Amino acid sequence: MSAVVIDGFAVAASVRSRVAAEVATLVQRGISPCLAVVLVGEDPASVSYVSGKEKALAEVGMTDRSYRLPSHTTESELLDLIARLNADTSVHGILVQLPLPRHIDEARIIMAIDPAKDVDGFHPVNVGNMVIDRPCFLPCTPHGVLVLLREAGIETRGAHAVVVGRSNIVGKPLAILLARRDCNSTVTVCHTGTRDLPAITKQADILIAAVGKPRVITADMIKPGAAVIDVGVNRVEDPTAKKGFRLVGDVDFQPACEVASFITPVPRGVGPMTIAMLMENTLLAAQRNL
Ligand code: NAP
Repeated sequence: MSAVVIDGFAVAASVRSRVAAEVATLVQRGISPCLAVVLVGEDPASVSYVSGKEKALAEVGMTDRSYRLPSHTTESELLDLIARLNADTSVHGILVQLPLPRHIDEARIIMAIDPAKDVDGFHPVNVGNMVIDRPCFLPCTPHGVLVLLREAGIETRGAHAVVVGRSNIVGKPLAILLARRDCNSTVTVCHTGTRDLPAITKQADILIAAVGKPRVITADMIKPGAAVIDVGVNRVEDPTAKKGFRLVGDVDFQPACEVASFITPVPRGVGPMTIAMLMENTLLAAQRNL
């Protein structure tokens, strides 16, 4: 068997072009959807994620308000900036790139963002509304995974979905979304406390890896014919690469292709979807503000 490789880049491009068309309509009406992007420090991965988001904003015709703050920025300085952005009616969405430097309490920062501008969907109000199926901003990566499953024609109803990882931004929300009535999957969540991980992953019709460790999912852990979604993004040393490293997922990709029916690659799998869903949330924030 050779799995169908899901082209996340293409699916993301179609989401972005739909968003761009709706942005153009808003702009004609005099509203320019605007996302404030806040980066504290110079972590290379964060700098690269932020540049990707800014590029995507420009492509869909949105305005970005970029704040690059030094790593010694204090928590109260960051809270002051968020208060100003909350009050600024020309700003529709606020994104604070995580992780933040250690001296800043991430939870306090997330909770300071107005839930109506929380386009990352991390504020407890949005998380709570997601859990009880009320309108909210869905977190971008889990939402992107759902769109990929739908676009690839992978049946979630009645499927056993196994999510490996239980972070607040990926694993937990994905498990909740897959268990909602519209997806109707039966969900198992695995983590470092899971006894006999392969025995559980092998039961998955849909296997989602959100761990952050290369090759934590090997081909022998996958049920033949399963759909495998690899959320992981890991840097591994590669002297032949221009930057000295390359990106891989959590799944041992080539051998997994021989067992799975569908699989997402890294890069060009889930990653582009995260940015596309951020664009969609920012559009939604601007539309709600009409
Ligand atoms: P995280 O906060 O570090 O969470 C990792 C999860 O994996 C934890 O729940 C951890 O369990 C679990 N885990 C670690 N080792 C394990 C093992 N050997 N067996 C079973 N479970 C294990 O990471 P995250 O923020 O969710 O991110 C996960 C990965 O996705 C990272 O590579 C990240 O870069 C990537 N990511 C990609 C995107 C994208 O757009 N493509 C977006 C966000 C994140 P415990 O809870 O027990 O510690």
